[in-house]
Amino acid sequence: MHDPNCLFCKIAAGEIPSRKVYEDEEFVAFHDIHPHAPVHFLVVPRLHIPSMAQVEPGHAGLLGRMMALAPRLALEQGCRPYPEGGFRIQVNTGREGGQEVDHLHMHVMGGPRPWLKG
Ligand code: ADP
Repeated sequence: MHDPNCLFCKIAAGEIPSRKVYEDEEFVAFHDIHPHAPVHFLVVPRLHIPSMAQVEPGHAGLLGRMMALAPRLALEQGCRPYPEGGFRIQVNTGREGGQEVDHLHMHVMGGPRPWLKG
């Protein structure tokens, strides 16, 4: 499913430029345009799911693969290894959850200094 009015659908389709760090048939990952950490990228399923609030049991495999992708990309993008290094995964959901782009995405943030994403 592709929403022609959705920013992240357009980025996934290559219609809007981004600094991609990874892509396959199911996901794209790209640097956040306003990073809150030395490493800050987004992992986005190509499938247009508006948020975690619309996730259904049939999405379990996709969500599992998205979570499994994050540690690999975090290391590739410069996060130091566990346990001294590491990263934070954040999925904002709905306005009160801090979500601004209504296409499910996972923030992956890390890097060698204190940081926090509100
Ligand atoms: P929040 O802005 O509160 O983090 P979201 O969780 O919906 O809300 O995250 C959307 C993220 O997308 C933001 O961190 C924002 O900086 C990022 N962003 C918006 N437009 C672009 C873009 N064109 N390319 C890369 N990142 C973008």
